[in-house]
Amino acid sequence: MARVAFIGLGNMGGPMAANLVKSGHAVFGYDVAQEVCTTAAGKGIHIADTVEAAIGDADVIMTMLPNGDLVRSVWARAVPAARKGALIIDSSTIDVNSARGAHDCARAAGLLSLDAPVSGGTEGAVAGTLTFMVGGDEASFEAGRSLLAQMGRRIVHCGAAGNGQAAKICNNMILGVTMIAVSEAFNLAEQVGLSHQALFDVASSSSGQCYALTTHCPVPGPVPTASSNRGYTPGFASELMLKDLRLSQEVAEASRAATPLGAAARDIFDRFVENGGRGRDYSAVIQFLRG
Ligand code: NAD
Repeated sequence: MARVAFIGLGNMGGPMAANLVKSGHAVFGYDVAQEVCTTAAGKGIHIADTVEAAIGDADVIMTMLPNGDLVRSVWARAVPAARKGALIIDSSTIDVNSARGAHDCARAAGLLSLDAPVSGGTEGAVAGTLTFMVGGDEASFEAGRSLLAQMGRRIVHCGAAGNGQAAKICNNMILGVTMIAVSEAFNLAEQVGLSHQALFDVASSSSGQCYALTTHCPVPGPVPTASSNRGYTPGFASELMLKDLRLSQEVAEASRAATPLGAAARDIFDRFVENGGRGRDYSAVIQFLRG
């Protein structure tokens, strides 16, 4: 069993770290928020006072943080504190350039490194059924594969450093666009007297079937575990969806890829977040779209 340092114990990192404890690893956690540390301690994670104390002589260091600036600043402390040959994995969703910069800093210090963002939401983090999209060299991938498999169901090696993040932002652009499409369909159904359940029953077994409909259904009722049944508490916060859509559009603009629906989705989530969406699940965009 390994000694694992886990930095960032929030909605995703907390349950992921808890699954590593269940697998028998010694997990040392650090987070700047006291509240999440208390919850994590209740799940068997040893809470440390600093990044360095969490790392100690860890075999694997994981980070699960809100954005690329934080990942780079935490890695700037974590990499010098880690023993040579240790593996450092970032599972946050961040921009491709920050991910590649973080890999460079780890490699220069003699560490193995992976970018391994996830899909599957907080439900998948709790259930240990996440999909990991992994970027990094073969040796790092082989070193990390079995640990990732204790938190996820599918582990996909997407290629060189940064490619996990590239896959993640493409995937989440699909999710952002489809959540808007599903929301528009429910709003249209309401206007023409079609019940939510009837539309769900048809679309979930027809060509409209998609994750935004069948897992994160934006209207309460058809999918009991969806955030829409809990007053749109996240789940996947709308500002995180906006972050991902912005990342996709930065890459699209830099690479001159045409993504008009991705750009429209970014603009809609931008307005939603600025007009009451912040702190709510991204599926609450349905209410914003009703005007
Ligand atoms: P979160 O805000 O719940 O957790 C992030 C944690 O990082 C917080 O507990 C925060 O206190 C901590 N943190 C911030 N700065 C820190 C620092 N300097 N040192 C230590 N800890 C620090 O966010 P989350 O929902 O867990 O998301 C984490 C990452 O996973 C994000 O990049 C997000 O885009 C991605 N993601 C989230 C979901 C989801 O459904 N929530 C799904 C897939 C990917």
